[in-house]
Amino acid sequence: MHYISTRGKAPRLDFAGVLLAGLADDGGLYVPESWPQVSTEEIKGFTDQPYAEVATDLMARFTAPAISAEDLAPLVAEAYRDFDHPAVAPLRQLDSGEWILELFHGPTLSFKDYALQVVGRLFDAVLQTQSNRVTVVGATSGDTGSAAIEACRDRDTITAFILHPQGRITDVQRRQMTTVQAANIHNIAIDGTFDDCQAIVKQMFGDKVFRDRWKLTAVNSINWARVMAQVVYYFTTAAALGGPDHPPAFSVPTGNFGDAFAGHVARRMGLNIGQMVIATNVNDILVRLLADGEYRKGPVHATLSPSIDIQVSSNFERLLFELSADDGDIVAKLMDDLDNDGVFKMSDAAMARMRGQFDGRRASEDEILSCMAQVNDTSGIPVDPHTAVGIIAGRAHRRDGNGAMVYLSTAHPAKFPEAVARAIGTPSVLPPRLADLYERTESFDLLPNDLAAVQAYMAERSQA
Ligand SMILES: *Cc1c(COP(=O)(O)O)cnc(C)c1O
Repeated sequence: MHYISTRGKAPRLDFAGVLLAGLADDGGLYVPESWPQVSTEEIKGFTDQPYAEVATDLMARFTAPAISAEDLAPLVAEAYRDFDHPAVAPLRQLDSGEWILELFHGPTLSFKDYALQVVGRLFDAVLQTQSNRVTVVGATSGDTGSAAIEACRDRDTITAFILHPQGRITDVQRRQMTTVQAANIHNIAIDGTFDDCQAIVKQMFGDKVFRDRWKLTAVNSINWARVMAQVVYYFTTAAALGGPDHPPAFSVPTGNFGDAFAGHVARRMGLNIGQMVIATNVNDILVRLLADGEYRKGPVHATLSPSIDIQVSSNFERLLFELSADDGDIVAKLMDDLDNDGVFKMSDAAMARMRGQFDGRRASEDEILSCMAQVNDTSGIPVDPHTAVGIIAGRAHRRDGNGAMVYLSTAHPAKFPEAVARAIGTPSVLPPRLADLYERTESFDLLPNDLAAVQAYMAERSQA
C-alpha cells in the first residue's frame, strides 16, 4: 500500500514512511491510495478468530510490503497479550438491541491502547532495521498521553515528549503519565489549554530544521497507523453481531475524529454499517458542521469528558479530502481559510455526501450526568462520561429499531472518578493493575505556552 497527502503536495510514501512521518510535508495527513476490500465471507470468518489474528489480517493490507503479515503477526499478538479480557474488545449488552463495546481493557484503560500498543512496536520494527532513533512528540487532552507513554516506555528506538495542559486533566490521567519512571519518557505540563499544546506540536512539525534535526514524529491520532489499528474492532463487532447480514450502527464519542473515521474506513473496506453517529460534548465543531455546513472554530470548554474537549478535529481533514473528490488543492485552500479566518464553508455537494454517511449530536453536561445515572440504575453498569456522550447521541439518532446500536465505551469509568461519583454517588474502583496509582511518585516539568521554550527543553534531552 502507498499513501498520499490530503493536500496533494507531499511525496507518496509506503507504510514505513507514513508511520515515521506522522504529518505530511505539505501540512496534510496521509491517506491510503485505495481501500483494500474485505469480502463477506472473510468478515463472517472473523467470528471464529482471536482478535489479534483478525487485527493482523486487516492491518497487513495496509502495512505490506513494508511490513509483511508474517512480521506483523508476532508484534500484534504481543501488543494485545496483556489486555485483561480474552476477547480484547468485548461487547456487553446494555438493553434490547443496545450494546456497549468495551474498549478499556488495555494498560491505561482507554481505547487509545488498542492502537498505540501496536504503534510503539511498529516503530521499533521499522527503526531497528534502519538503525535509527526518533523523537516522539505529542499533545494530550488526557488519555492519549498515558497510552502513548505506555506504548513508548520499553521501546529502544524512541525518546518521547508528551505535553499536557496544566490543571486541565484529571488526577488519574495525570498520574497515569507522570508516574511512569523511564529514562526515555518526558512529561511536560504547559501553562495553557489542550489546543495550545496541540498548536505547539503542530508548529514544531512546521519547523523543518528542528523537525529533521530531532527526527520528530507523532503518535497522536493524525498518525495513519493509529486509525488503521482502530478499524479492527468495527469488523470484529459487526461480525459478532451477525453482520454483514445485520449491519450494526455505531455511536462514537468524538474529539479528533480518529475513531469515528476508522469506522468510516471499515465501511470503505466493505463492512456493512447501518449508521455512524458522531457524538460530541459541548465542544461540538463537527455537530455544528453537520447542521450548517460551516467548519468553525470555537472556544474550548472544559467539560466532564475532557478527552473530547477539542474544537478542531484533526482527522476530519481525511474525510474532507474524500468529500472534496480527493482534490488536495481544495483541502489546502479550506485549511488555509480555517487558519486565517477561523472558519471554512463546505460545498452543498460535500455536505450532502457527509450527511449521507454521518449523523451527529452534542450532549450537555446535565445530559451526561443523567445518562450515567440512568444507565447505572437500569443496567447496573457504571459508564464513563465519554461513553455517556455516545449513548446520548446514539439514542437520539437511532433509526432502525431492529438493528443493533453499538456505543463505543472509550474509557473505563475509574478513569473519571469525580464525574462517576457525581452521577451515581460512588466512584468506580481502579482495576488491579492501577490499584496503587495514588501511592506512586510523580515527575514532570512545567513550561510556559511557548514554542521556543519547549524546543530548548527537548534539544537538551532528545537522543535522536
Ligand atoms: C481520545 C478519546 C476520544 C476521542 O477519540 P478521537 O479519535 O480523538 O475522536 C474519546 N474518548 C476517550 C476516552 C478518549 O480518550
